[in-house]
Amino acid sequence: MENNIAILGSKKRIALIAHDNKKYDLLDWAKYNRDTLAQHIVLATGTTGKILEEALDINIVKLQSGPLGGDQQIGAKIAEGEIDFVIFFWDPLESQPHDPDVKALLRIAVVWNIPMACNRSSADFLFSSQLMNQEYPRILPDYNLYRERAIRSQEPEKTEVAVLEPVPEVFLNA
Ligand code: PGA
Repeated sequence: MENNIAILGSKKRIALIAHDNKKYDLLDWAKYNRDTLAQHIVLATGTTGKILEEALDINIVKLQSGPLGGDQQIGAKIAEGEIDFVIFFWDPLESQPHDPDVKALLRIAVVWNIPMACNRSSADFLFSSQLMNQEYPRILPDYNLYRERAIRSQEPEKTEVAVLEPVPEVFLNA
């Protein structure tokens, strides 16, 4: 399998998302990192974005609220190569109405080798990396083998239909 490279620029497109019980953790983290965030392009799901924009006074591209499709929008942008970086404080103690979307977003970030932090300490480690302010050659897995995989072209073999003997009358009247 050959790999391709996508260059993450020094100005990164960062997606921020937090579930309701984690929004103020993210806000606290974002306040601490406000000046770094201001050097990049920040996108967020609707409610998270609104809270952060008001508190940080920086421009945030606000997408739909997560349960209304915001997580899927971020996933789609990752697949289109429009997001470089994800900070997603998801709540491990509460099920969400949009659990399938959450899972899909976590999955697609791994598919495309996107740096992603799901808790505060990981976000601290990512943000304190010297790579934040540099170009970074992100390896893109070569999915051509997958795209060109063989799909069975023959129709499945017909299964024989069993012909049942009629039930003897003696049982019908029993
Ligand atoms: P929200 O969405 O920022 O609109 O609350 C976050 C989420 O639950 O995915």
